Amino acid sequence: MAIEKNQVVELEYTLRDPQTGEILDQSPEGNPLKFITGTGQIIPGLEKEIMQMNCGESKEILVKAADAYGEVNPNAFQTINKSELSNIPDLKEGMVLSGQDPQGHLITVRVHKIEGENVTLDLNHPMAGKDLLFEVKICDVRPATDEELAHGHVHDSEQDCNCNPDCGCKH
Ligand SMILES: [Zn+2]
Repeated sequence: MAIEKNQVVELEYTLRDPQTGEILDQSPEGNPLKFITGTGQIIPGLEKEIMQMNCGESKEILVKAADAYGEVNPNAFQTINKSELSNIPDLKEGMVLSGQDPQGHLITVRVHKIEGENVTLDLNHPMAGKDLLFEVKICDVRPATDEELAHGHVHDSEQDCNCNPDCGCKH
């Protein structure tokens, strides 16, 4: 039986670069990723394949960049004056900086290029433009509770959640 919408899926995964085989990300041992299906909590190309799987099944899933973190957006580069980054020692190309956007969201950007006084920042997701190879195993599938659906996140079993729908807490 395939997996339906509004279910809590527990998933062990290893994410590799399909070209080099390098491990980019991995669910910690004994601590699978938990997410609610149909709510956009994981990348769409991966979710689509997982929905076809059964509990207990393992699979290798290649997700093309467009269905993962998207292609590199050529407009998501911004050039600023080096003096705006004077608080950062040893500024180098390839460096990852974190900060806040004007709305106060935490963002990370990469230093794409340094030319004289001009620093070009790459605002794309670090995995934009990359195909991703996932090895996944479905460890558990159960229906999400009404409370989980209202909160939009997974709760640990048997534990009451004291949060409100907007708290952004992780259970
Ligand atoms: Zn909650």
